[in-house]
Amino acid sequence: MDNKFPGKDITKEDCKFKFPLATKKRPNEISLSKKIKFNSKTIPVIAGPNTLENRDMILKCCDLLEKKKIGMLRAGVYKPLTFPYRSKKYFELGDKAVKILEEIKKNYDLLLVSEIMEEKKLDFINDYIDVFQIGSRNMQNFPLITEVSKKLKPIIIKRHYGASLRDLLGAAEYALINKNDKVLLCERGVSVPHTHKATSRFLLDLQIVPAVKEVSNLPLIVDPSHACFWHKWVKSLTLASIASGANGLMLEFHPNPRNAAVDPLQPISFNEFSKLIDECREMAKILNKKII
Ligand code: PEP
Ligand code: MN
Repeated sequence: MDNKFPGKDITKEDCKFKFPLATKKRPNEISLSKKIKFNSKTIPVIAGPNTLENRDMILKCCDLLEKKKIGMLRAGVYKPLTFPYRSKKYFELGDKAVKILEEIKKNYDLLLVSEIMEEKKLDFINDYIDVFQIGSRNMQNFPLITEVSKKLKPIIIKRHYGASLRDLLGAAEYALINKNDKVLLCERGVSVPHTHKATSRFLLDLQIVPAVKEVSNLPLIVDPSHACFWHKWVKSLTLASIASGANGLMLEFHPNPRNAAVDPLQPISFNEFSKLIDECREMAKILNKKII
């Protein structure tokens, strides 16, 4: 097959026949709200805890986002856990979270980003979530992507840790073909042998940032927290993500990180987050961009 980019797994034919919408030139801006826009001058940040554990902790997180002028809150309401057993500390609020989400919507100017795992929850949670996240484990759950896309809300598709860019664009195509043009891609680390640290479960693939720009102008968010799984590395990987040209960031923080209900090695503290946002702003300025 004729390939304009030898050595890459994406061919001209792929762009024409397999994901024409994902690789089509489109307006260089995806607007989520008056304030939050993904374009060449902005780097929207989505931040918050892994899991919406309780009202008190999530309101503290909202306060911090407001203080740091960050416009999007992430918090898992329905959580994909790798193993079916719950620790004593762990509980997910699930449907019970809606009261809290309602309160947040009323009192804060934040867009709420949360993962949806089952189509049957979609109508129930639709009013409370502004941006639906398709988790890496569901990247190829095409019926789920199709149904979520039909709500025409912004949708983040996280790359599965074993998937190529070609696969990711195929998943995005399922959203685009359902007339949802607010599709955001997310890199969150891939699973390859590496020896740096037993706790770093995935390897952040920053090469996908320039690679995606060669074939698509869908925004690509980078999530260093889920990639490295290790709070001490989040800062350098975040700054590297900005330097690589990431269109957005997803970061995990927690009011009491080592006591987080899920993945306590992963979140950075409030202090670390505050400082990191300041550093991101400095770095973004060099590139003539703005952290929002
Ligand atoms: C998450 O963002 O909370 C999450 C579970 O991410 P991923 O699907 O990338 O593991
Ligand atoms: Mn997580």
